[in-house]
Amino acid sequence: MTDITADAQAPGRNPAAPGGARTVASAVPAALVARLAKGVTATGEPELVHTTAPLTGERLASLPQSTPADVEVAYELARRAQRSWAALPVRRRAAVLLRFHDLLLKRQDEVLDLIQAETGKARLHAFEEVLGAALAARHYGRKASAYLKDRRRSGAVPVLTHAVEARRPKGVIGQISPWNYPLELSVGDALPAFVAGNAVVNKPDTQTALTALWARELLVEAGLPADLWQIVIGDGPVIGPAVVEHADYVSFTGSTRTGREVAQKAAARLVGASLELGGKNALLVLADADLDKAAEGAVRACFSSAGQLCISIERLFVHRSVADDFLRRFAERTRALRLGGGLAYGADMGSLVSERQLEVVTRHVEEAVKGGAKVLAGGQARPELGPLFFEPTILDGVTSEMSVCAEETFGPVVSVYRFDSEDEAVEAANATSYGLNSSVWTKDLRRGRAVAARLHTGTVNVNEAYAAAYGSVASPMGGMGDSGLGRRHGAEGILRYTEAQTIATQRLMPIGPSFGLDDARFAALFTTGLKAMKALGFK
Ligand code: NAD
Repeated sequence: MTDITADAQAPGRNPAAPGGARTVASAVPAALVARLAKGVTATGEPELVHTTAPLTGERLASLPQSTPADVEVAYELARRAQRSWAALPVRRRAAVLLRFHDLLLKRQDEVLDLIQAETGKARLHAFEEVLGAALAARHYGRKASAYLKDRRRSGAVPVLTHAVEARRPKGVIGQISPWNYPLELSVGDALPAFVAGNAVVNKPDTQTALTALWARELLVEAGLPADLWQIVIGDGPVIGPAVVEHADYVSFTGSTRTGREVAQKAAARLVGASLELGGKNALLVLADADLDKAAEGAVRACFSSAGQLCISIERLFVHRSVADDFLRRFAERTRALRLGGGLAYGADMGSLVSERQLEVVTRHVEEAVKGGAKVLAGGQARPELGPLFFEPTILDGVTSEMSVCAEETFGPVVSVYRFDSEDEAVEAANATSYGLNSSVWTKDLRRGRAVAARLHTGTVNVNEAYAAAYGSVASPMGGMGDSGLGRRHGAEGILRYTEAQTIATQRLMPIGPSFGLDDARFAALFTTGLKAMKALGFK
């Protein structure tokens, strides 16, 4: 299939942009890289690590690498900064997030260029990150005081015991993040940690470190003390363990395989961890769905960020009665997508991020085709557009022996399956060890929500692909099963970065035999008291 429209622009070049042709090299000049590189915690004469731009394959940045000893330095600096930061009132810390929100919106073009240069994604998908980070900044900027305030609780003995639940910062959070959403998964997840009074030592993926470094600069401009957010750079297996080793809490986003390792290391130290991991997400098109809307939604669901999105859809279940109609519309829209790498809005899908991603995508598709699957759209790499472009691909007739059936591809590839009843669809969608996100399309919203309740995923979107649940930042987001532990967003997304502390104050008489009461009388008195409390409805 070669009828996927190629964007007229050369990859990484946008002749239509103001100021003439903008290439990756002109959008991310060496002076910018050198300035951002100063934000890496790396001492002495660090070794350099080089990154390339996925859109063109050209050299993008040379960055200093941190060693495990540098990670220790980062923790020392962060720990020192955290003490005075935690002593500030919450509203002062929250004000930094709200200023960051405004700066981010104002200066978004700078980071959109960086995200595109580092990941190869289309600008629209880079913008999703600005959206996500701004939503998190506003939400936690406005709601942190409410989430963190002391709460009066019922005491052990009514009137005599005064109990308060308080929230204390964990200290220094070790944050490890992947390359696919470098703004959202670095600063987006760090904001609630900061506002709760913590410092953060962040290890972004080296490929997308510039974006995290830029976000750090902006947050410092918004008022964050510079030492509070340390960024270390290096190979995951080399410095990742050191990040976990010194953390008071670990926030990890990445693959299930690495997540398990990180969780084991955190468990051995008895520190908590939240793990946002992989998925094999399902989309259900029920018999009564609006097929045009569902087809459009499925395109967004499967091919945003070229499918390199943890909550994107890789399994599509469609009711047999509407399958042909739906698939025709879905395949037409998919074939019409404009692939391109211009540093401007216009392309519908960009490139993959790395050779490794291209290898997995190619292998999954070729193996499926060899095994008898039919390609309804796409199916090919597009090297003439750039070294890592691959067409958005729909596969029909995928069977359980094929890797693409159950393994996460993390690319622009979706397999379609037909079902006859809702029970069958729910069972098939749940037949995976993952449980991150799902999507249900129907005109009957009540029915959509009823089906959603039966799906074993941390988020379910009814009549939307993923953005409705992900963007509802007041509600928790995360995975069940192999998709993770803990949640980002909402109350859970900030309380995970805190320790609960109960302060109970006892008045007048102690909780024990006193004032001449012997043990037996004390027990009798409290037995009567317990019965009375239950009868009076005490909780
Ligand atoms: P990955 O696990 O290879 O890497 C993630 C991060 O962990 C990187 O910073 C990496 O350097 C680091 N790392 C690697 N080995 C390590 C080790 N031994 N100790 C500590 N850190 C180590 O994942 P990836 O391929 O970069 O990212 C893609 C995966 O992330 C996909 O599976 C995707 O579904 C998942 N993801 C999940 C979410 C979510 O919210 N659930 C979001 C984005 C991505």
